[in-house]
Amino acid sequence: MDNALFFDYFCTMKSGKQVFGTEEWAVKNANFISGCFHNCKYCYSKEMAIRFKRKTSTNWEIEDVDNRQLLVKWKKIDGWIMFPSSHDITPLSLEHAIVFLNNLLESGNKILIVTKPHRLVIEEICNKFQAYQRSIMFRFTIGSTRNDTLKFWEPNAPNFDERRDCLLYAFNHGFNTSISCEPMLDNSIEELVSILSPYITDSIWIGKANFLLRRLKMNGIDDAETLNKANLLILLQSDEYIKVLYEKLNSNSKVKWKESIKKVVNLKVSTVKGID
Ligand code: SF4
Repeated sequence: MDNALFFDYFCTMKSGKQVFGTEEWAVKNANFISGCFHNCKYCYSKEMAIRFKRKTSTNWEIEDVDNRQLLVKWKKIDGWIMFPSSHDITPLSLEHAIVFLNNLLESGNKILIVTKPHRLVIEEICNKFQAYQRSIMFRFTIGSTRNDTLKFWEPNAPNFDERRDCLLYAFNHGFNTSISCEPMLDNSIEELVSILSPYITDSIWIGKANFLLRRLKMNGIDDAETLNKANLLILLQSDEYIKVLYEKLNSNSKVKWKESIKKVVNLKVSTVKGID
């Protein structure tokens, strides 16, 4: 641990503040786009962009590239950098994403690529960055095995089959692979873990849908069908369900639990960024 990292570790331990969200995975986030074509109903980044008047609920799905970010020469940072954390990598932004990712990797950084993966995007990244294989960890977001569930909550993102194919592609090409099942979107989670586990080299993170009704409201989604499904999802993710799920999956060494679940099953929540 170098001096800067030790200082950060010391300060965090002293404050005792529990980490959550992206801080459970990475010490820093990197982004170069405002907006996201996937337009997930529960999106935290959309909520923040609307709250701070950078975007509206209707133009969120337009991806505005910040060209200045493409010119940034990154320093080497100790620990994983999560890219992206407030948008995604879609075929629309792929060309720019390759430039941005190259800048991050050239500086010796370790990059946690978190995405709802498109086949075109993953093939291109795997082929272009084969030499940086050990510096990349893919974390594919998959909250259900059911295409109708994914289509409902994440209308423009790839379906389950495409995401699973991306996982197999990255795994078969020797990359580090992991899954973010956060938010869980229905009760297909055991099946999801069973289907995907053989292609995971690292971890499957499971987490609840946080602040769902507040996010839907800020994101301008107030139709009866969505509110009804949101309330059913909140009911499904009761403490009782979470405890049963924990008992069923905790023997799988690849399964890790996000802060929202640790609190329910009385696991210690980390106070240090990016080392859980
Ligand atoms: S993929 Fe991520 S950033 Fe894009 S809309 Fe969905 S939750 Fe938001």
